[in-house]
Amino acid sequence: MAEIAYEPVIGLEVHAQLKTKTKIFCGCSTTYGSVPNTQVCPVCLGHPGALPVLNKEAVRFAVKMGIATHSSIRELSTFSRKNYFYPDLPKGYQISQFEDPLCYNGHIELELEDQSTKKIGITRIHIEEDAGKSIHDIDIDTLVDLNRSGVALIEIVSEPDIRSAREAWHYLQQIKQIVTYLGICDGNMEEGSLRCDANVSVRPVGQEQFGTKTEVKNMNSFRNVEKAIEFEINRQIELLQSGGEVAHETRMWDGNKQITRVMRSKEMAHDYSYFPEPDLPPLRCTEEWVDTVRKSMPELGLDKKRRFISEYKLPDYDAGVLTQDKATADYYEQACNALKEQTHDRYKLVSNWIMTEVMRVLSEKKISVEEFAIPAEHIAEVVDLYAAESISSAGAKEAFADMLESNEAPQLVVNRLGLLQVSDESFIEELVDAVLSENQDAVAKFLDGKDKLFGFLVGQAMKQSQGKGNPKKITALLRSRLEALKG
Ligand code: ADP
Ligand code: ZN
Ligand code: MG
Repeated sequence: MAEIAYEPVIGLEVHAQLKTKTKIFCGCSTTYGSVPNTQVCPVCLGHPGALPVLNKEAVRFAVKMGIATHSSIRELSTFSRKNYFYPDLPKGYQISQFEDPLCYNGHIELELEDQSTKKIGITRIHIEEDAGKSIHDIDIDTLVDLNRSGVALIEIVSEPDIRSAREAWHYLQQIKQIVTYLGICDGNMEEGSLRCDANVSVRPVGQEQFGTKTEVKNMNSFRNVEKAIEFEINRQIELLQSGGEVAHETRMWDGNKQITRVMRSKEMAHDYSYFPEPDLPPLRCTEEWVDTVRKSMPELGLDKKRRFISEYKLPDYDAGVLTQDKATADYYEQACNALKEQTHDRYKLVSNWIMTEVMRVLSEKKISVEEFAIPAEHIAEVVDLYAAESISSAGAKEAFADMLESNEAPQLVVNRLGLLQVSDESFIEELVDAVLSENQDAVAKFLDGKDKLFGFLVGQAMKQSQGKGNPKKITALLRSRLEALKG
């Protein structure tokens, strides 16, 4: 009997920590890495009677995310208490939004490997507060740090529109790109400023109804999200094919064993009885205010990529690499604007320089483009010198290496190192004619059919010019002189 083919169905729940200076319901600082329990107050410690006051900046950030994901922004949204017991949750409940979330019904557009595009629906984006942090590895006891308690979060819930582990990876990358372009979150999964839970099920191909899903947690990198989902899909398919049933449960990714394992079954599921938050009035976002937020939106990654392709005539690949993060895209555009001649050839040269030389140094030194020593204008100058044939490509690389250390402008470096290439017509003519008359033997053999001697003659000319002669011009002139001799 042929085995049934199964199709994965995936929906992600992503938490993004907002970069507001203060917490969502109190004035405590959100600075990361401070001494534990020093950034706390009665509100975020959950003392009875302390009243929350909503941080407007957090709402503005969440609305930006809503606009970026083409979501509707609800004029009147409400807060709820999500009740559960955990040592890092001093109030015994988390303030969140349950009914009437701030943003709903949006989508995120993905560009997949084969350059096709796909829209993933966004069910909702709501604001809520973070819990504290339990620390298990310092003492025999579990310690609790409440500096994170009350930090602003958004939760972005997708529709079950994702169909593979790779698509989930793309979706998450796209979220990271959007939040970092918006400047509302660091988007760092390893440090926990971006966190993802994956809901995974499989169904026979052609069946409309979804299968039973599991929820997978504890993946703290993009790579692990992809691996965990891949594992979970295969586990469920194998289970069904061997006559078993998928249990509705929460599982966690075990990075050591590279498997998912049961964390809690449905019977042990949290029964979060949500109820309305009595200490906060409904949140009103007028259309007028949302419009002012809309007007402050920056150009986002995918739009920038498409503009780079049309404006600078860059290949899709280049545009994608350069717009991966906003700082790199800004660096590229700054260099292009500084070019002496605005041509598509030079735009492509700038792209080549950034994608190879600059990015190589960034990864070697493990720094970001903002920390890079060479200003964008100097990259433009190197490209201009090269495009005008004032320096060779080897000379450009030598100048670049020097600039990394000396921080001097390209023209100065090129002069100091004597890298200027001589393209002057009469100089090249004298040089070529001298080489021809001094190497008559080689010329005769070349005319006799020894084609390889052409390279030898070019080499002689380069040597006589002490490497300064423009090799392109030397080659062209030598070729035409020899053609003439052939008659
Ligand atoms: P729950 O009742 O477990 O909270 P929800 O319907 O609220 O489930 O959905 C939570 C997340 O799970 C959403 O991202 C949604 O897209 C996804 N999801 C829902 N049903 C399925 C399914 N059958 N398979 C995969 N993902 C699903
Ligand atoms: Zn506080
Ligand atoms: Mg739900």
